[in-house]
Amino acid sequence: MKLGNIAEHCYNITSSYLSLPAHTPIISSTQKAIELTRQQLLNDTFNKWSPLNGDISFSYNGGKDCQVLVLLYLSCLWEFFLKTIHNSQYGESNHKFPLFELPTVFIDQEEGFSTIKSFVETTSSRYAMSLYESSRNEEGKTFNMTESFQNYLNIHPETEAIVIGIRHTDPFGESLTHIQKTDSGWPDFTRIQPILHWNLENIWSFLLYSGEPVCGLYGFGYTSLGGLHNTQPNPNLAIDEDNENTQCSFEWELSHSFGGNRMKCLIDDDDRTLIDAMTKKYHPGWYLTDDALERAGRIKKPKD
Ligand code: FAD
Repeated sequence: MKLGNIAEHCYNITSSYLSLPAHTPIISSTQKAIELTRQQLLNDTFNKWSPLNGDISFSYNGGKDCQVLVLLYLSCLWEFFLKTIHNSQYGESNHKFPLFELPTVFIDQEEGFSTIKSFVETTSSRYAMSLYESSRNEEGKTFNMTESFQNYLNIHPETEAIVIGIRHTDPFGESLTHIQKTDSGWPDFTRIQPILHWNLENIWSFLLYSGEPVCGLYGFGYTSLGGLHNTQPNPNLAIDEDNENTQCSFEWELSHSFGGNRMKCLIDDDDRTLIDAMTKKYHPGWYLTDDALERAGRIKKPKD
């Protein structure tokens, strides 16, 4: 898809969500969260760095948080473009969208689920991303995050700021601010973090309403995606006699999704085999709305 077309589509999704009557308290709190993200992008970020000339890149790993942020970022990009051509002497319809692709970084960190990799690839095409995938060293080993971002900056020295889909409820996320420089030990650039204030329920409400395809692992009880060997379905979503009739908090969003699109949640064959072999079955990831339990499926590394 062309960047201008998908940016306009994302703008339409966001405008539609913002105009919903507040059917549930979650919808009204998500509308407030969107408004704050919009202000942070349109007023604080795009006034300082142009989103149209390569100053800003996007960090993307196919997870729900950065997918929500892509939708909002592209929506704001469209709004920014409309503002720049407003009152143009040539007429608005004579202006082409000035950016071809969204500069994006995906760090291939550890042995991952094939579903995540294919989701990143299909959605990078859907969201018109120019995807930089981190390289490996001569022995085929991955570089860590800091080395990978340094490699990216070496190739794209024009990058001033990178957008990150991190939230206050993520580990070490509590004291972050929406615009800040990287810490010492990290390559020097500015971090743009416009969904820090979002909760898990805001993420799911907007994403399920959007009608966009979602990484298939979420459909099978995964709530936080890491590597293949340290990520399991969330144990709090295991189906047993007591909770088999548990209700989903987002039935309204699913049945009224934007454009009437039925949510696609596709999974690769390898991961399907892994899931079919599990003794337990799980509710979909969006049945969990407690931020404190979101990472319960991530296996911690044993301490030395
Ligand atoms: P998630 O919730 O999965 O990730 C949060 C977000 O990080 C994602 O939405 C995505 O935008 C980005 N991200 C995560 N994994 C990848 C990946 N494999 N490829 C591309 N993007 C990814 N920590 C510091 O202590 N100091 C820093 O200065 C610092 N700078 C950072 C700059 C960037 C651009 C990024 C992406 C991370 C940085 N971090 C830094 C680490 C960050 O604070 C999180 O710890 C890290 O993103 C992982 O977050 P998470 O475990 O919550 O994973």
